[in-house]
Amino acid sequence: MDTYLKTNICGWGNYPCIESYILNEIDFSKSFIPRAYGKSYGDEAIYENVYDTTLLDFFINIDFEKEFIEVQSGITLDKILRFLLPKGYALPIVPGTALISVGGAISNDIHGKSSRGSFGDFVESFDIITPSGEYKCSKHENPELFYGAMGGMGLLGIITKAKLHIVKGSKYIKQHIIKTNKLSNTMELLKKYDKDFEFSVVWIDAFTEKSVLMFGDYANYETLPLDLKLSFRAFNEKNTINIPMFAPNFIINDMDMKAYNMRYFHKMKDGDSYVDYFEYFFPLDSVKNWNRLYGKRGFLQYQFVGKEEAVYEIFDIIKSYKIYPYLVVLKRLKSAKDRVFSFVKEGFTLAMDFPVNDRVLNMLNKFDEIIQKYNCLIYMAKDARVSKDVFWNIYKEQINNLMFLKAKYDKEFKLKSNMFERLFMR
Ligand SMILES: Cc1cc2nc3c(=O)[nH]c(=O)nc-3n(C[C@H](O)[C@H](O)[C@H](O)COP(=O)(O)OP(=O)(O)OC[C@H]3O[C@@H](n4cnc5c(N)ncnc54)[C@H](O)[C@@H]3O)c2cc1C
Repeated sequence: MDTYLKTNICGWGNYPCIESYILNEIDFSKSFIPRAYGKSYGDEAIYENVYDTTLLDFFINIDFEKEFIEVQSGITLDKILRFLLPKGYALPIVPGTALISVGGAISNDIHGKSSRGSFGDFVESFDIITPSGEYKCSKHENPELFYGAMGGMGLLGIITKAKLHIVKGSKYIKQHIIKTNKLSNTMELLKKYDKDFEFSVVWIDAFTEKSVLMFGDYANYETLPLDLKLSFRAFNEKNTINIPMFAPNFIINDMDMKAYNMRYFHKMKDGDSYVDYFEYFFPLDSVKNWNRLYGKRGFLQYQFVGKEEAVYEIFDIIKSYKIYPYLVVLKRLKSAKDRVFSFVKEGFTLAMDFPVNDRVLNMLNKFDEIIQKYNCLIYMAKDARVSKDVFWNIYKEQINNLMFLKAKYDKEFKLKSNMFERLFMR
């Protein structure tokens, strides 16, 4: 082990953190988990040994005519988009940050603001190294491993390269904003309009329930105002702010957030406007290390998908506890087909950030009761705290199916994460 670097690694929420050996080669003599940029919030990409995929960051091939790109798995979506967008192409599905890898996007079958589906729907094929051998996977070749590793959280093997579909896109988004003052209006308007647009997302001020619904479509070059036409092929490097160190635990408080939310709500204007692609999809990427604002104790994101009733009842709990999440994002998802393990199912998905403390943990246990009552799913890419009982109750069939594949491709459990040990092992 001495040949490998030992360092402190965390989930994006800085909770939990552990000392870990960083492997720079795939070495099945030990148990490890693949890890890319660690943008999953909890303990999914951490273990006593992690294999660092970020060196696998090359483009392999691009075919604009057939609309495919082939890349190594550690390349970031950011790097791919900066190459594609000036040429009028894009990735069909992107999450709330571009600073994740293709391997991470496949392994969580990530979703975004797009109504087209989830990331896996646009993966043509990938190569994967499992403890039982190397495989080429697509829906025609080794399909069970293809649909198993897609959403499989790195537990079946290391994806080394992937062929992805690309789509015609644009560096600008034509955005349509509607503001509301009440959660029920927000839900109604989201249901009414999200089918009319390719992209939709809602920002909610949890203190007041005021919301900003942000719909969007790729802006057509011909209809752009002249100044945007002139900058269409150029990329202005955006100034990013960096949070250089952990803030003291008390730096963000309810009063600041109320004021911030009020300013944000007033700044956003109803109606149409053109927005830069990166601003529309990845507003948080302009603040480097923003996760440090929550201080060293870290923060948790609670994200679930399911019935409308669950959204209202979760808000009731928030009001009764008077613990208001500082970031709340609402979207609607469509079911992902054929996956072995996936969060992506039909329904509303609500994501909320909370600082880690005992009262919050207590409230999140109440959320779990609602989630189980309405057969919702919790997003494991964001989780660091759900109990084994709740996890098995909501994902039972999917866990058994993933474990069946594990017995076939990794029977000695060489691929393990802290999350795997916390939740999967009975
Ligand atoms: C600001 C922010 C916004 C986000 N918004 C969204 C969103 O809108 N929608 C959404 O779905 N998610 C969202 N996420 C979560 C994020 O997209 C996922 O957690 C993503 O998987 C992280 O990718 P990563 O490359 O950092 O992988 P890591 O976090 O390092 O790893 C994630 C998982 O992928 C596995 N993995 C990584 N690389 C490989 C590989 N090559 N082969 C096999 N397994 C691998 C790991 O073992 C682990 O299980 C957001 C995260 C942040 C920080």
